[in-house]
Amino acid sequence: TWAGVPAGPPDPILGVTEAFKANTSPKKINLGVGAYRDEAGKPYILPSVKKAEELLAGKNDKEYLPITGLSDFTSLAAKLAYGADSALLKDGRIAVTQSISGTGALRIGGAFFERHYPGPKVIYLPTPTWGNHIPIFRDSGIEVRRYRYFTPGEGVGLDWKGAVEDLKNAQEGAIVLLHACAHNPTGIDPTQEQWKELSEVVKSKKLFPFFDMAYQGFASGDTTRDAFAPRYFVEQGHQIALCQSFAKNMGLYGERVGAFSLTTESKEEKARVDSQLKIIIRPLYSNPPVHGARIAATILNDPKLNAQWESEVKGMAERIIEMRSVLYEKLTNELKTPGDWSHIKSQIGMFSFTGLSPAQTKALAEKAHIYMTADGRISMAGLNSHNVGYFAESVDKAVRG
Ligand code: PMP
Repeated sequence: TWAGVPAGPPDPILGVTEAFKANTSPKKINLGVGAYRDEAGKPYILPSVKKAEELLAGKNDKEYLPITGLSDFTSLAAKLAYGADSALLKDGRIAVTQSISGTGALRIGGAFFERHYPGPKVIYLPTPTWGNHIPIFRDSGIEVRRYRYFTPGEGVGLDWKGAVEDLKNAQEGAIVLLHACAHNPTGIDPTQEQWKELSEVVKSKKLFPFFDMAYQGFASGDTTRDAFAPRYFVEQGHQIALCQSFAKNMGLYGERVGAFSLTTESKEEKARVDSQLKIIIRPLYSNPPVHGARIAATILNDPKLNAQWESEVKGMAERIIEMRSVLYEKLTNELKTPGDWSHIKSQIGMFSFTGLSPAQTKALAEKAHIYMTADGRISMAGLNSHNVGYFAESVDKAVRG
């Protein structure tokens, strides 16, 4: 039956992890996958998460959740994203559903737009973007187009002129995907002034802003500051779509905790949108997993635990920022590695786009047992005070050839 099924290519990011696992060198470093590691290079369970799990232990049954998930969780997730003082929230105009983490939020969003969006079913994605955005929207039946976002080579940075030009030339009424903060893979975000200008461009072309917020808190260490862009767009009168993930900021990767929301014009419109979200989700997976949503809701609902969590997010963000500055110092001042490495310090969030070529990343894997994606993206969270020196020396060698 399946004789005609061709072998597909391995996943470019998960493939890096496979290669890493197969390597037996004690020096090996995995900078491919975007998961936080502590100073000892180990996965990190946030103490606030442990505490929430203790509070929950033995208290709950394992019954099904409703189709759109745990309502305590979804309303707290919306509050975290839109702000406690959000007028939309107070008016009950945000339609929100729990989702299978950020990926599931994007996919539900894709399905909803494919079915109900009255404009052109075309989405503009930044180049580059998180690799999975492309198949997610394509599989949803939305045409994928691109806008410029990044300038490679010298002065690795935001291609602001290119982005604005491409969005000004975009098809009127199309959808535009915006990384709310900590753009993956480049680690470069627009400034607040640039977001304001983007809001105008989006308005002038009647584009629909579709925000992917997978790193709230991870960019600056402050969940409010990181939510600037979607909140500003809402303030400016845009209707938005928003995908949230609690994988990174609560370290709940495998628990698959996320939310998808749409702002609406009235309570009545919200109710209609809610009903259609249910109609999309029911045949996909019936209802979402319960455990992680309970953890997130417990943390967000308890002021003391919430404050503790915020400080833990900040701690993760700060450790990453510290590694950026150590790596920059080593390359620039200690090793005098050829090239300008200032982007390592200026980029934000979990990733750094190093500017290393595919040949250099290959050499790093083969000669130094260091793994990253072929585009030269490294997860800063994989570096710590024990391995950053070895990493810098290996990069230095790779760059010098
Ligand atoms: N969007 C972006 C930009 C991401 O980087 C990620 C995680 N790598 C996600 C969404 C979704 O991740 P998850 O499904 O694990 O929440």
